[in-house]
Amino acid sequence: MNYPIPFTEYCETLVLKLTALRKAVLYILWCTKKPIKAYDVLNNLLKIKPNATPPTVYRALDFFVASGILHKIESIQSYTLCCEPMKQLPTEVLMVCNLCHHVVETYDTLVHALFTKLADLHLFQLNQDAIELKGTCQRCIEKALDFRHWSHDRKT
Ligand SMILES: [Zn+2]
Ligand SMILES: [Zn+2]
Repeated sequence: MNYPIPFTEYCETLVLKLTALRKAVLYILWCTKKPIKAYDVLNNLLKIKPNATPPTVYRALDFFVASGILHKIESIQSYTLCCEPMKQLPTEVLMVCNLCHHVVETYDTLVHALFTKLADLHLFQLNQDAIELKGTCQRCIEKALDFRHWSHDRKT
């Protein structure tokens, strides 16, 4: 399969061994601009690799999560590309929109320091790479406001 140049360049920035299958899985996530479920990755993969099976997809996804290339968003059971995989940032914050599942990824050294401090205090070993916050994204807030204005205008 011939991948577009931007994707090939993206792959080159990742210092990873990419088998043909891993590359195909990564390409699906690269094309999807929002979080995607393993099941949908498999369905897309079957279009290029008709003999793909669920375990191979899960293995590839686990590999990318362990390498810090993908985030698994537990609350919506979906996967999304990490925005800055090369930095391997600990304790990234993922703000997940309840309405559209859009994810805003951010990092703050203070947050990281705070979590490390809390964990140390309780002799707890942290092994989670990201923290999920649930809420409403800017687009969905604006959409709701537009709708309210619109229904208000109609009544008056
Ligand atoms: Zn990330
Ligand atoms: Zn949203």
